[in-house]
Amino acid sequence: MTLTKRILLGMLAGLVLGVIFNILLGIETLPEPLRMTIEDVLVMGLFDTVGQIFIASLKLLVVPLVFVSLVLGTASLGSNSRMGVMAGKTVALYMVTTCIAITLALVTASIIKPGVGMDLASASSFMGSEAPSLKQVIINMFPTNPVTAMAEGNMLQIIVFSLLMGLALAQVGDRGQRTFEWFESADAVVMRMVLILMNLAPYGIFALLTKLFTQLGYGAIADLGKYVFTLVFVLVLHLTLVYCGLIKFICGLNPIKFLQNVRPAMLFAFSTASSSATLPVTIRTVENRMGVDNSVASFVLPLGATINMDGTAIMQGVATAFIAQAYGIDLSFTDYLMVILTATLASVGTAGVPGVGLIMLSMVLTQVGLPVEGVALIIGVDRLLDMLRTSVNVAGDSMVATFIGKIEDLFDRDIFEETSDTQV
Ligand code: ASP
Repeated sequence: MTLTKRILLGMLAGLVLGVIFNILLGIETLPEPLRMTIEDVLVMGLFDTVGQIFIASLKLLVVPLVFVSLVLGTASLGSNSRMGVMAGKTVALYMVTTCIAITLALVTASIIKPGVGMDLASASSFMGSEAPSLKQVIINMFPTNPVTAMAEGNMLQIIVFSLLMGLALAQVGDRGQRTFEWFESADAVVMRMVLILMNLAPYGIFALLTKLFTQLGYGAIADLGKYVFTLVFVLVLHLTLVYCGLIKFICGLNPIKFLQNVRPAMLFAFSTASSSATLPVTIRTVENRMGVDNSVASFVLPLGATINMDGTAIMQGVATAFIAQAYGIDLSFTDYLMVILTATLASVGTAGVPGVGLIMLSMVLTQVGLPVEGVALIIGVDRLLDMLRTSVNVAGDSMVATFIGKIEDLFDRDIFEETSDTQV
């Protein structure tokens, strides 16, 4: 069986078992020993342990992979590096797609009006978060100590250090040859570690999803049906219209093939709800299935996992409109522009870990004077939606990597066209 099929099977089995456990635990007359076995032994014992080990192992590979791969990628671009131009195009494309994402979200939410007639009773107190200043964000990108940056997993600092090292490696020429070879061989080893982990992933994903679906409250989904529907609709719209449109009309590639190729990364993103934890898989997928050169993938993807979150921006757009409608507050055109601006910045500042997008939403709400407690209205369904929006976040990063690879001519069309399901 191919890996994608095994992952899908793991997901499905986890989903079904989780829902069954959820239903069983909801039965009040369930015998206590059975309840304990399900709750304590299986879900919080076995499945939670396996799931947490799986996520930890994915995260374990992020720093070594990004460091080794990006140094190698920058060095192989040569000493008169095109990295500067590529970085400019990448950031521009990330920003543009994010702005389109929020605009789509706001327009759709104004048409569907998911928040009208909401019962506000459930909006209890919710503490928002303070946004760091732009100046601080920029200063924080520059590491004072590469070891600390790696120990803390600070992605932007690791990127800056790796770029500098790769550039220096290219400039020293022959004398850097041995270091370059060391990085080449280390890259092969780390990539193999990712592959080993991906092969074990179906079990990890099964455990994660069983626990998640056991604990998920389905009542909330029904109550917030219109919100969930609007959000899912915009996510799908963005994926199919914007991503597939750019792939087809600008890159001249087959969008169906793009969706097939990106599938493993999206499935991991769905299961972990973390673009950071998915990063090793995204890099492998984009290089080996999409045909994008390592020099592009190793830079564009770690940056994307940190600053590009279209799915999160869509959630913030829909949620802002939803909360405004629920409180009966009319947003002006300027407010909408403000939402686009702050949600773009908020999605840049959102870390690629579960649930952070919702916390950053409070920043957007404050900006346009909406009550931050509104977040409490949607918290109940956020975990499931987080999984979906993270898949879109990762698809967006992969699309931009493919786009940049194609226009920079660092792309292998044969790999893109001929990817089979067995290839990861
Ligand atoms: N979970 C998302 C991600 O990792 C971030 C968020 O929207 O909460 O991409």
